[in-house]
Amino acid sequence: MSEFALIRQHFARLGSGRGDVLLGVGDDCALLAPPAGQALAVSTDTLIEGVHFPPATSPEAVGYKALAVNLSDLAAMAAEPAWFTLALTLPDADAGWLQRFTGGLSAAAAPWGVQLVGGDTTRGSLTIGITVFGFVPAEQALRRGGAQPGDRLFVTGTLGDAAAGLALWQGRLHGDGEAAETLRERLQRPTPRLVEARALRGLASAAIDLSDGLCGDLGHLLAASQVGARIDQAALPLSPALRSLAGPQAVEWALRGGDDYELLFTVPPARVAALKARAGAWPSALSEIGEITARSGLAVVDEQGVARPLQTGYDHFATDSGGER
Ligand code: ADP
Ligand code: MG
Repeated sequence: MSEFALIRQHFARLGSGRGDVLLGVGDDCALLAPPAGQALAVSTDTLIEGVHFPPATSPEAVGYKALAVNLSDLAAMAAEPAWFTLALTLPDADAGWLQRFTGGLSAAAAPWGVQLVGGDTTRGSLTIGITVFGFVPAEQALRRGGAQPGDRLFVTGTLGDAAAGLALWQGRLHGDGEAAETLRERLQRPTPRLVEARALRGLASAAIDLSDGLCGDLGHLLAASQVGARIDQAALPLSPALRSLAGPQAVEWALRGGDDYELLFTVPPARVAALKARAGAWPSALSEIGEITARSGLAVVDEQGVARPLQTGYDHFATDSGGER
């Protein structure tokens, strides 16, 4: 059996067997049957070793995260995940590595019933490109551009944990025990907020997932909606683990740290009560962190009630500010 036949064998049955997959891995194309009347939501994200994850990351964590960050994009659109494809570039075909990598992929796929339906395998530096496909009634998709002045600003879960997890990994932050473990898990195993996203259909006016940090991603939403926002610093949801290990750095990480994969969304005041009723059943916490303003720009109001303007501008190709990782 050739090396790449072996690789394909690892990917022949990954994820749940879905009735809407007429033909999966193995032919020249997959044949898929999207439900009538719904839009197909499609998104791609690529992870490169040394850029998006440190070379020492476990294969399970790489596999898990590569799919989870893609599913997070479907969540941000309130789309129901269905299928994914995998463009995999490998330095060599190491069966042990592949086994662990597909274990991580499967762990990310299983809770959501998504199926791997095809891909491509090439040789080179370790790079994982995933494209996810999901469904959403077109008029219920959550775009970035729908926020209106007066809308309330919400986030799921807690902010800044993944940035602290990265700092622990890189030795810029020190700690051990349960809190450190929690933060490392948050970096390596983000939960795509798909349950929450489904409940936002018909309620949220705009949404985005937090991959590059609250300020940067809120900036995208504000630009698309042509509005501004005020954030209440005291309302930022900080986990006990982050508070205990990060000290005064916690707020800065909550504002600017990337990789949390929480949802950030806006809701008109008249629908806030309905949102809170639905959020009671969510796996993650719901926090109201501010308000959309007609005036452009982003201001953070600190504990003393003093507003400071924050930079939202984000240059994907910047070399000094981190850019898009
Ligand atoms: P082709 O030369 O026609 O592109 P390939 O040898 O690249 O054929 O792929 C053969 C089959 O294996 C296709 O169905 C393709 O989708 C699948 N495949 C290849 N690599 C992967 C992968 N990394 N993950 C999932 N499916 C894969
Ligand atoms: Mg091919």
